[in-house]
Amino acid sequence: MKKYDAVIIGSGQAGVPLAKKIAHKGLKVAIIESKLIGGTCVNYGCTPTKAMVASARVMHVANTADEVGVIVKGVSVNLKSVVRRKNKIVQHSRSGTENVLLTTKNLDVIYGEASFLSNKLVKIALADGTEKIITGDKIFINTGARPAIPKINGLDEIDYLDSTSNGIRRGARTFIGYWSKLYSA
Ligand SMILES: Cc1cc2nc3c(=O)[nH]c(=O)nc-3n(C[C@H](O)[C@H](O)[C@H](O)COP(=O)(O)OP(=O)(O)OC[C@H]3O[C@@H](n4cnc5c(N)ncnc54)[C@H](O)[C@@H]3O)c2cc1C
Repeated sequence: MKKYDAVIIGSGQAGVPLAKKIAHKGLKVAIIESKLIGGTCVNYGCTPTKAMVASARVMHVANTADEVGVIVKGVSVNLKSVVRRKNKIVQHSRSGTENVLLTTKNLDVIYGEASFLSNKLVKIALADGTEKIITGDKIFINTGARPAIPKINGLDEIDYLDSTSNGIRRGARTFIGYWSKLYSA
């Protein structure tokens, strides 16, 4: 069983800089991620929403250009391009973060879902179906948050949107997953 000075569960906004900082001190670090490196902000939150808001902003400026004496004709949105641009920015940001982690000395990136066997033993269900158990002097839980789905009668039976999940849930469509699927190139 491999022993680390620090084990960080989750590669979001806190996990990544913390992992780098500890590794740069010469201590041995493992960072575990069950989904996408970068977490919510990079993959579902800050980055994709602001990329799409930027497109909306340009549309707004074009639509209100006549207020400042500029005539813009024939403005329309190509949502496929908007989503493609957003995906490219997200991918660039995620792979940049991943490359930094993978090339940082003293730092192991482990792809899998972590759970505790005891307060110092972490089991990781790896993507290939196998398991790995590691231990660390210090263990940091940076598993972020998830949208809370309110208990509303019938909600499970209809399509609904939430802020972060990327795909279809229980017959429900989510905002980013829904539009990405519809307009992905
Ligand atoms: C739509 C949206 C827009 C947002 N826009 C902004 C913005 O403009 N500006 C801003 O400051 N904030 C914004 N936020 C908030 C921001 O995304 C979060 O505050 C931030 O991502 C939280 O970081 P975190 O590291 O705590 O968690 P996360 O980024 O959620 O990272 C947690 C990571 O842990 C992983 N994980 C969870 N459980 C396990 C496990 N058992 N084993 C292994 N890995 C696990 C998850 O897969 C995830 O990658 C936005 C959020 C949303 C949803």
